[in-house]
Amino acid sequence: MELQRQHLIAAARAMAARGLSAGTSGNVSLRTGQGVLITPSAVPYDELTPEMLPLLLLDGAYGAFEGRYRPSSEWRFHWDIYAARPEVGGIVHHHAPYTTALAMAGREIPASHYMVARFGGASVRCAPYALFGTAELSTLVLAALAGRTACLMANHGGIALGADVAVALTAATELEALARHYALSLAVGGPTLLSEAQMAEALAQFAGVYGPNTGAV
Ligand code: 13P
Ligand code: ZN
Repeated sequence: MELQRQHLIAAARAMAARGLSAGTSGNVSLRTGQGVLITPSAVPYDELTPEMLPLLLLDGAYGAFEGRYRPSSEWRFHWDIYAARPEVGGIVHHHAPYTTALAMAGREIPASHYMVARFGGASVRCAPYALFGTAELSTLVLAALAGRTACLMANHGGIALGADVAVALTAATELEALARHYALSLAVGGPTLLSEAQMAEALAQFAGVYGPNTGAV
């Protein structure tokens, strides 16, 4: 698990270095065989050391953890997502500028670009507002993520999921790029939306064709 602790710290620092999170905003987690490693609450990412990372004990009582530092105040939605979505191995939550600007306006990202389909559907939903750190927020986030790998959270920020934490970080970075493009399109007259059929086609293209050439025959 030592390597996974290092991966988590690297992802949290990369999130900050990419301008996706200011101060101690946001949080990052990854699934291990023993439970879920998560960033501790309110600790600057450049001060993190491997032993500071709490381990959420998913097999134990709700909220049980090991470690000296308290887990992120958002441990509930991390816990609930891992419990509900076995395919998820990493989660990144950030307050990146354009993602958060749209979330502050309570706007979802509609079918304004084919990359919306990259997150699993014809829109990136925006969960209604609820106080940070609450079970209510977790319930709303889980619903907004149904069938998707990202969502916005009204008056708060965004969340991206991945098979591991590196994939989740890439998704979180692409979510911010998409939010930036959508916000800019609003400033130049508003996007032309893709049709249901065009989005279905883009979803199929991601599922079947898109990806690096692995050299496999
Ligand atoms: P934590 O430092 O407790 O993870 O809180 C940051 C945050 O973004 C809460 O939503
Ligand atoms: Zn937050």
